[in-house]
Amino acid sequence: MILLGSTGSIGTNTLKVANAFGLPIESLSAGKNIALFNTQIHQYRPKNICIADINDATKLDMAYIKAQNIRVFFGEEGLLDMIKASQSTLAVNALVGYAGLAPSLVIKQCGKKLALANKESLVNAGWLFADYPITPIDSEHFGLWYLHTARAIHRLCITASGGALRDMPLDKLPFATPAEALKHPNWSMGQKITIDSATMVNKLFEVLEAYWLFGIQHIDAYIEECSAIHALVEFVDGSITAHISHADMQLPIAYALDEQKAKSMRLIPRFDMSALTNIHLKPIDSKRYPVWDLKSTLLAYPKLGIVLNASNEIAVGAFLDSRIDFGSISACILESMRYFDSIKTHTLTDIQDIRALDSEVRAFSASWLHTTRP
Ligand code: NDP
Ligand code: MG
Repeated sequence: MILLGSTGSIGTNTLKVANAFGLPIESLSAGKNIALFNTQIHQYRPKNICIADINDATKLDMAYIKAQNIRVFFGEEGLLDMIKASQSTLAVNALVGYAGLAPSLVIKQCGKKLALANKESLVNAGWLFADYPITPIDSEHFGLWYLHTARAIHRLCITASGGALRDMPLDKLPFATPAEALKHPNWSMGQKITIDSATMVNKLFEVLEAYWLFGIQHIDAYIEECSAIHALVEFVDGSITAHISHADMQLPIAYALDEQKAKSMRLIPRFDMSALTNIHLKPIDSKRYPVWDLKSTLLAYPKLGIVLNASNEIAVGAFLDSRIDFGSISACILESMRYFDSIKTHTLTDIQDIRALDSEVRAFSASWLHTTRP
């Protein structure tokens, strides 16, 4: 298989599952964590590897790479070339952010199975994948897929933990530090998605992801602090089913890699049923999560996901660099969505349109954060 983003949280979990299933790894990619990448290269002996920055080449274990005749690719174009040069029919995209979109499109173009953790691919360009089957690696969408039946569906529901700052007093929230916002109560994940969970942007992404995956517009989300219920489906007949499991990404990853094997063995701890007594579903409060007010607009105009994503990436980057406070992330997104409101009536068709809008939103958000932000 091909694994993009092997050094990340989903990437390392994917390697554990691949190991348990005895799946050979043909191609691996990493960003900046070359020390971990060298270890993975030794352990999994891929035929092809790619790193984001050619300047990091000197950190690679070139003696081993040459001895094993491993082909090395570099940068964004190199990553796309590596996908095209790979024989594997299964590709896991565990990259984070907009950088994952072009690889997803190439995986589709090559006709390979797309096991998609990079939700930003769908947030930015869901309609470009409308005719292509995607296996989602996201606990809520895996849960929805698990519950999906031929019965008529009234509504899809996904849950949110509330993120690291769910109990912080509202007056302190705008000034939360990166260290505080990165302490997720239930999941161990990469930095960006952990911040996206604290602002609730992650749940907006997931609502859009569910919309593009299942083609249903009636989607809601609730806070469920234990992360035990991941998804619920309400059927037209009045029944509701819920997907419950231990919070562990190895379950959705296992199904994405090999459904037959995933069904027949347990990789994650059994769920402790006594925990169900603590479970409550609560509405998402837009005083704590101001971006949540965007949900219905995004569902009505899902291509606005491009604006949401680009402004969020700029603001989260600035927050993690301690250049802006936590409250400015949501403020920047709301301001960008207001500024680009006319996009609702634009016809965005291809990747060039997405790139142009993405760049425009990034420039606006960066400038707003730099000059206008209160
Ligand atoms: P991480 O930050 O932990 O990992 C991201 C991976 O992408 C790393 O291997 C990183 O390399 C690599 N990478 C980052 N930027 C670039 C770039 N510009 N070019 C090439 N490679 C790059 O993220 P997660 O694993 O947490 O998340 C990955 C995706 O999965 C995200 O879209 C996230 O929303 C989604 N997801 C994650 C979940 C989780 O539990 N973590 C749950 C559900 C969805 P390096 O570290 O070497 O720099
Ligand atoms: Mg999720």
